[in-house]
Amino acid sequence: MTAGDGPWLDPAAPGWDWDTEAITRLSRDTVELLAATLLRARTGPLATRPPADQLEAWRTDDWADAGMPVERVLAEYAATIAPYPFGNAHPRYAAWVNSPPHPLGVAAAALAAAMNPSVAGGNHAAVHLERRVVRWFAQLLDRPGGYVGQLVSGGSAATLTALTAARHRALARVGHDDRRDGITGLSGRLVVYASDEAHSCVTKAVQALGIGSANIHRLPTDAEHRIDPGVLDQILAADLDAGVLPVAVVASAGTVNTGAVDPLPAIADVCARHRVWLHVDGAYGAPPVLLLDDWAGTRAGLARADSLALDAHKWLYVPVDAGLILFRDEANLRDTFSLVPPYLRTAGETDEPVWFSEYGLEQTRPFRALKVWMQLSHLGRDGYRRLIARDIAVAAALRVMIHDSEDFEVLAHGLSVVCFRHHPHHVSEQDLDRHNQALLAQLQTRRVAFLAATTVYGRFALRACIVNPLTTTSDIGAILDEARRCAPGWP
Ligand SMILES: *Cc1c(COP(=O)(O)O)cnc(C)c1O
Repeated sequence: MTAGDGPWLDPAAPGWDWDTEAITRLSRDTVELLAATLLRARTGPLATRPPADQLEAWRTDDWADAGMPVERVLAEYAATIAPYPFGNAHPRYAAWVNSPPHPLGVAAAALAAAMNPSVAGGNHAAVHLERRVVRWFAQLLDRPGGYVGQLVSGGSAATLTALTAARHRALARVGHDDRRDGITGLSGRLVVYASDEAHSCVTKAVQALGIGSANIHRLPTDAEHRIDPGVLDQILAADLDAGVLPVAVVASAGTVNTGAVDPLPAIADVCARHRVWLHVDGAYGAPPVLLLDDWAGTRAGLARADSLALDAHKWLYVPVDAGLILFRDEANLRDTFSLVPPYLRTAGETDEPVWFSEYGLEQTRPFRALKVWMQLSHLGRDGYRRLIARDIAVAAALRVMIHDSEDFEVLAHGLSVVCFRHHPHHVSEQDLDRHNQALLAQLQTRRVAFLAATTVYGRFALRACIVNPLTTTSDIGAILDEARRCAPGWP
């Protein structure tokens, strides 16, 4: 190479020679694949197992030195990736909490990637849009300016963020700087309160924060799997007397196991009385509480929480990932995460708001707000009310169908979750767990319908969670029929 013909003089770097025509063609081809993928997800088979040779190729092949043309990459997507989906857009998928993506959200995800901002901060559309979305959620709690928050990867990240802030506040009150000194010397004194029904991400966050899962005080639940506020009150009073430093009480707006909603107004009273942080895990169930009239009382309790986690990628049908975390105490949140010294912090009231990265764990942040905003704008509050109420009604219909059947029984039901089991007359009580485990294994292998499992009062249960506006009562009837066919001993 001689001086003057360096690579900077090439008209276009090899591999980056995208002219107008190439970009347009790729965009068109992608749009067709997008449409095919969305349609297949709802009308094709629920999920097909990748064949052995495909699995082998994924497991063993090497990244080639020579690249391949775009057309071939897209063709490989169509032939070897698109046919093997998770299955969660299908109307007969009711496992875990996996909704279908709203088509507009899918389009938004592509557009957000095309803009590709980092939403750490700055003064550009993505930043303002995320603040707007956060404000819209805060409005549902009747506190439009009363919350700060941001979009995160999901409920697990939201919980970790919330408990980090809660730990910081609890320790700041006793003059301990956890950011500088860690939690040395406090072993065993920091306690998080959560019921057995709390999601495992609470345990994970407590472990990651060095609090230790042995220091989760497990709260007993009532017959409906809800925290008893009176018991919580006694436990907190006794623990505070004993010198415990409570980090937070974690309550649920919709447990993942049974859809139970804790009595949030009474729990908020108890937390306020003892000045303990209340975190509400609404990853699954916050949307109906925020939007439906039936839940106005619970909503008033929710509005008093110090932090709230909600997964827009669950019951708001936004493509993964889209979690939301809201906080009431802006100053504490910034003190928890900001690395900008206090004397340099701006108020954020000018054109450029305070950077999101001062309020959480992420620095480079994706443009999640676009898909959330597009869907919220398109559907409106009423559109969401109708969709969510419909999911709840389909779950209620499933409960009735199970109740009316000869051979199934309901074990729990809350929001759009129904836990049940197959209980034909010839199977004895002590064999029921094994019977239903075998049924579920067969169901998950056949993949005609899809359910997950949980445990209700120590009993193995099949669990259906309806977060799919395409699921009809005939689909849930078909899910039950398929479950029956998968039972051991079915002719
Ligand atoms: C899904 C879920 C979580 C975890 O959220 P991710 O988005 O999977 O990280 C936490 N709590 C509840 C109640 C959930 O349903």
